[in-house]
This record gives sequence, C-alpha cells and structure tokens, in this order.
Amino acid sequence: MRIRIREDFVAAPICPHCGKDIEEIAARRVESTLGVRFLYYCCDCRKVLGVSHRKGFWMG
Ligand SMILES: [Zn+2]
Repeated sequence: MRIRIREDFVAAPICPHCGKDIEEIAARRVESTLGVRFLYYCCDCRKVLGVSHRKGFWMG
C-alpha cells in the first residue's frame, strides 16, 4: 500500500496546541554550533511546531 501526498488538499492544518487553523507559520532562524536551523511556531499561541533538521552546509 502506498501513501500519497496531496499538496492540493483544501483543509487547513490545525495547531496541536491552540486548535486553530494554521494559515501562516512563524519561523525564527536559530544559529548553533551545528549550523543554522529554523524554529517553526504558531502565529497565534507561539508554541513551537517543529525545528528544521537541516545540517550546517546550508548557510543562506
Ligand atoms: Zn497555536
């Protein structure tokens, strides 16, 4: 069984913390000794939704 990814799905994702629809995600750049990462958080409740796991070779 294959799972497909739908990028045209119309319903907005919901924040697991405040339960509101997520239409925008706030991102904050975090610099560490391991490289630059991005912290993603809800615009409404400001709780963190996730962190990018990009390694340090990306310096943009
Ligand atoms: Zn929220």
